[in-house]
Amino acid sequence: MTEDQLIKEFFVPASVHADVVLGIGDDGAILDVPSGHQLVTSVDTLLEDVHFPSNFSPKDLASRAVAVCVSDLAAMGAQPKWLTLAISLPAIDKLWLQEFSQSLHKHCSKYGMQLVGGDTVKGNLALSINVMGVVKSGQALRRDTAQAGDLVYVSGSLGGASLALQKLLAKTEIDADLLSRFTNPQARVILGRGLVEIANSCMDVSDGVLLDAARLAKASHIGIEIELEKLPLHPELHNYEFSEALKFATGGDDYELLFTIAPDNFDKLSTLSRQLNITITQIGKVSSISGLHTFYNSDPFVVERTGYQHFSENG
Ligand code: ADP
Ligand code: MG
Repeated sequence: MTEDQLIKEFFVPASVHADVVLGIGDDGAILDVPSGHQLVTSVDTLLEDVHFPSNFSPKDLASRAVAVCVSDLAAMGAQPKWLTLAISLPAIDKLWLQEFSQSLHKHCSKYGMQLVGGDTVKGNLALSINVMGVVKSGQALRRDTAQAGDLVYVSGSLGGASLALQKLLAKTEIDADLLSRFTNPQARVILGRGLVEIANSCMDVSDGVLLDAARLAKASHIGIEIELEKLPLHPELHNYEFSEALKFATGGDDYELLFTIAPDNFDKLSTLSRQLNITITQIGKVSSISGLHTFYNSDPFVVERTGYQHFSENG
């Protein structure tokens, strides 16, 4: 099978969205951005053994990859529209490609997105997905716009993905619901769009809630106080000792939204949470002392490892 045949068989979508003037097949895609809107774009790379275990199922790889990337659009309050996929494959395995591409197209449709281009090369299994979305001009959510006096919130629950990955790697028995927190996370697109009207700042929780909160604080030139006992733990973590549960809850990979609101918007936020049936939890507040400050039952509590970083400070 040639590269062109592979692209045609597995990656060209069955039908083309109206805003795709030119999709897969030419040197570049031509896309219509609706008037009065801005394009939001983000890219993520997933490497075998770094971002997903080896022998990870192609179906799960596609669902996880799409969600991880779309989560960035959700965090910006954007409506997902298009994506391109650069994939490196060790060989042409038709069964693998079929399962991967079916899952890819399914999860793209779920978010209303269309694959409009990419690149296919031979090498170790890896993929880069560039997602594009649109937002009304000037309305995107940002991480550098938290305000003094804001309350800090997180959506859903934390620690499920990290616990699932640990069990997956240890090959211990795992409940299907918990497993899906790692294999099939749900990008918080609808919540992000609703927050456009309500939140002062927003980002997604990819590397761990504390590390990401520190990033938000730094970007906004403010401080954040987090009350650790308020972190919404995944139900499976309720049987764990707090220190152990905390490791998972701050381990990352959950793709929830971390955001700040002015206290006056509390009622609007409660209504949105009820309408969407998405739990949201206040975990702290913006403080005047810059940096991240963590407390446990009101006492200062230092957390050793705040999250996942590819490059540590000493190398
Ligand atoms: P070029 O050599 O001009 O870069 P390619 O031969 O790499 O083009 O790709 C041909 C067409 O197929 C292009 O439109 C490209 O965007 C698309 N394409 C290549 N690989 C993929 C992929 N994995 N998924 C989606 N589209 C792809
Ligand atoms: Mg070309």
